Formats: sequence, structure tokens, C-alpha cells
Amino acid sequence: MRWGFIGASNIAERVIASMRQIPGQELLAVCSGSAARAKEFAAAQQLQAAHTDLAAFLREGRFDAVYISSTNEQHCAQTIAALDAGCHVMCEKPLAMVHSDAVRMVRHAAAKGRVLGTNHHLRAQAAHGLIRQMIAAGELGEVHGVQVSHAVHLPPHLQGWRLDKPGAGGGVVLDILVHNADLLRYLLQREPKTIRTVTQRNGIGGRDRATLAVEDGAMSLIEFDGGALAQTHESFVADPSALTRLHVLGTKANLYAVGSLTQGGTSQLWQRGAGGEREIAVPPVDLYEVGFTAFVEACAGRGKPLADGTDGTRSMAVALAGLASATSGRTETIDLSI
Ligand code: NDP
Repeated sequence: MRWGFIGASNIAERVIASMRQIPGQELLAVCSGSAARAKEFAAAQQLQAAHTDLAAFLREGRFDAVYISSTNEQHCAQTIAALDAGCHVMCEKPLAMVHSDAVRMVRHAAAKGRVLGTNHHLRAQAAHGLIRQMIAAGELGEVHGVQVSHAVHLPPHLQGWRLDKPGAGGGVVLDILVHNADLLRYLLQREPKTIRTVTQRNGIGGRDRATLAVEDGAMSLIEFDGGALAQTHESFVADPSALTRLHVLGTKANLYAVGSLTQGGTSQLWQRGAGGEREIAVPPVDLYEVGFTAFVEACAGRGKPLADGTDGTRSMAVALAGLASATSGRTETIDLSI
């Protein structure tokens, strides 16, 4: 497939390294808001062309697919333009800033007969695939609760728009709660109904909590169809040694994963129940290679992306309802409409 990249971003560098492992992919050009950044990115990533004009990029590139990893407020318009140019689109999360835009993206992809994927990389983590299978097979009994501890240290090179630009979709809720929401939907194979979120502003990278533009910590309580409850914690201000943790509690057994909520692709997983504790071996994987391989297959008419546009819209809807809850101080209903 012929690929173009919209956004000269950090994550695009990571994704390109993984895409080079997938046979048959031609990684061709980048489009950035800055000519200098586009040129530098293209040279560093060995892409043939660097653009600043999206229309010319799409016209001249004759791409089969684009990967969009610009800041969040640009995702919708860039996706619509790429679909109009006949491209399949793998877009970063959150798909958009408001629900109606994400719905428009999903409907436009369907109307154009193109694949829209959302880069929810945590679906590719092997531990999560095992947990999903075990839940579906009833091995845990009835799952009544899940705890997700996804508190990280936002590294200095990412302490830009995420903290200073609410208009670009900054803040830990749109950055990390969307991933947790998608993961919970994936594991439980149930839809979320309501959310109560409380956010905090701690201050990071020399910023004062009183003037910080967005939240840098959040905890939520999410109720799912069937009654399962999930607690999630997202943070940018944990100390760098903090481990991520996922705890899935059933009436017969529980599963406990450490380190699975990262970009690294490794983790440890244990099952505990009446028979005691056993560690379950989790094969390491390249999360982006797995996710983009599924997307490439979907574009060839084989299967679906790991997370499609509907998944991206619904995970975003959870985060938007969480932000609304933090403002209203009430439990909010999650809008799952497409
Ligand atoms: P970056 O800050 O690295 O890049 C975002 C945009 O900022 C780029 O497209 C670029 O604009 C601009 N930019 C990059 N570097 C500079 C710079 N030095 N000076 C000025 N502007 C710069 O963002 P991320 O890579 O962290 O995130 C991009 C998207 O990917 C977001 O939607 C985010 O939510 C998502 N993401 C997803 C992850 C996942 O695992 N699924 C992980 C990390 C991020 P331009 O293109 O115009 O040059």
C-alpha cells in the first residue's frame, strides 16, 4: 500500500518504525503545517516528499492510505479530505473534539467505501487479548469490576500542546481516558452507560496549578451494560517509576496485569482464584505493527481494523462525558449514537 503521513509528530516516528516491519508498505510522504518540519521529518524518516499543502499532498501522493497524527482539532477535517481523495484512513485518538465530528467521519468513510481505523494500540497488547478471551469464555465467572491504573509521567518533549492548548485537545482525559475507555469496551465486550469523573490540576514542567490550562489527573467511575463497574485513573504527573496496572475481578477468579498499559508491548499477567495463583506467559509484541497489519488486511477486504471508527467515536464519547461530568459534578450519560 502507498502511505502518506499527515502530522510530523513523535508518534508518527514510532509508527513508521513499526510499519517498516510490515511487508508491502511504501512509506512515501509527509504533510506538516511547517515547511521546515516537513522537510526535516521526511529526511529523518526517509520519505520521498514533504508537503505543507494538504490538497497537493493528497493529489500528488496517490496514496492508498494515510495515517493522521496531527493535533486532535485537525483530525476531522484531514480525515474528510483524505476520504474524499479516495484514501483509507488510520486516525489517531481522539478521533475528533466533538461527537458530531466523529460521527461525520464514520459516516463519510462508509459513504466512500473506505476503511477508517482508530489507533487504539492497547487492543494489540497480547495480555489484553488473553484477558478478553478468558472473560468471553466465562473463566472469571461474572466480571463485576475492573480497575485501571494508567498514571504516567508525561516526558518533557511531550509537555507542549497536551498541557497548554485546550483547543488542540490537550488534557489527560482526551489523551488517556479515551484509551482506557476503548480497552474496557474491548475486554468486556459491553458498552458503557454512565460516567462520573473528577479531575485535578497538579502542575508539571514548571507550570503552576492555578494557571494550568487543562486537567493533568483524573479518576472516573464507569458503569457498563450488565452492571459491571470500572474505575480508571489517568495522570501525567506520576513519578517515572510508576507501573501501570489492570485488575479484572470476576465472581470465580481475577486477573492482574502489570505494565500492559504502555507503548512497549510487554507485560506480566497473573490469574488468581480458588486454585491459587498462576502467572500466564504473555508474548511480547510490537503493538503498532500488530495494529497496522490488521488495518492493512482490512483495507484488502480481510477483517476489520482492531479499532474502527465506531470504536474511536465511542471511546471519545466516554471521554467527552467524563469532561462534562467533571464540570457538572454529576454522573453523565454516555452518548453512543453513530
Ligand atoms: P506531537 O506533539 O509530537 O505532534 C503533534 C503535532 O505537533 C505534529 O503534527 C506537528 O505539527 C507539531 N509538532 C511536532 N513537533 C513540533 C515542534 N518541535 N515544534 C512545533 N510543533 C511541533 O504529538 P504526539 O505525537 O504526541 O501526538 C499526535 C497525535 O497522536 C495526537 O492525536 C495524540 O493523541 C496521538 N497519540 C497516540 C498515541 C498512541 O499510541 N495511539 C501515542 C501518542 C500520541 P505538524 O504536523 O503541522 O508539523
